[in-house]
Amino acid sequence: MDMEQLMGNPTTVSVSEVVKESKAARTLVFEHPDVENIHPGQFLMVWIPGVDEIPMSVSLLNPPLMGITVLPIGEATNALASTQERQRIGIRGPFGTYFDSNCGSALIVGGGIGMAPLRPLTYELLDRGVDVVLLIGAKTKSELVYAKEFKTLNREGFRLELSTVDGSVGF
Ligand SMILES: Cc1cc2nc3c(=O)[nH]c(=O)nc-3n(C[C@H](O)[C@H](O)[C@H](O)COP(=O)(O)OP(=O)(O)OC[C@H]3O[C@@H](n4cnc5c(N)ncnc54)[C@H](O)[C@@H]3O)c2cc1C
Repeated sequence: MDMEQLMGNPTTVSVSEVVKESKAARTLVFEHPDVENIHPGQFLMVWIPGVDEIPMSVSLLNPPLMGITVLPIGEATNALASTQERQRIGIRGPFGTYFDSNCGSALIVGGGIGMAPLRPLTYELLDRGVDVVLLIGAKTKSELVYAKEFKTLNREGFRLELSTVDGSVGF
């Protein structure tokens, strides 16, 4: 990617789907022309017209689709979390380094919205034949992100453990 693409105007994308991941977190799914060159661990600068531009981890990599998962905590994240299908947002990036998925087995530990970059990493590792134990934690059951998706994931070498601070699910 060249400097003009990194520093220049954002690429405008249309949100094709909004997925409820927990009580408050939402994944915005969209097509991106550069999705094949984006890796788990990298982030995008997401421009919400008239509001702000903020960093968001790449949480879904399924070419030609990709996605970001947003937890509303302030003005920009609230605006992003209430995005509707067919609404447009601006994307710059990807930025940052990415995970090295060259290993024999992996223990992945994520809490709350910190799970966002770890979802595509989990799939990348499983696709490479790496055994994965995934630990997802949150304060309460309703704040667990991607728990429903991974609970039904039936892949060889994959194990899921859930943990909550209030003990409403898991250990
Ligand atoms: C590399 C990177 C990747 C990120 N990936 C994601 C992601 O995938 N999903 C996601 O939802 N967020 C992610 N974030 C965090 C997100 O960018 C911020 O939450 C967002 O910029 C806040 O903007 P706002 O206008 O909504 O809130 P603001 O108005 O800027 O902040 C509202 C309040 O929340 C506090 N606050 C701001 N950010 C955080 C934070 N991260 N943790 C705790 N308190 C905070 C502020 O101090 C303030 O009190 C990422 C941040 C970085 C740097």
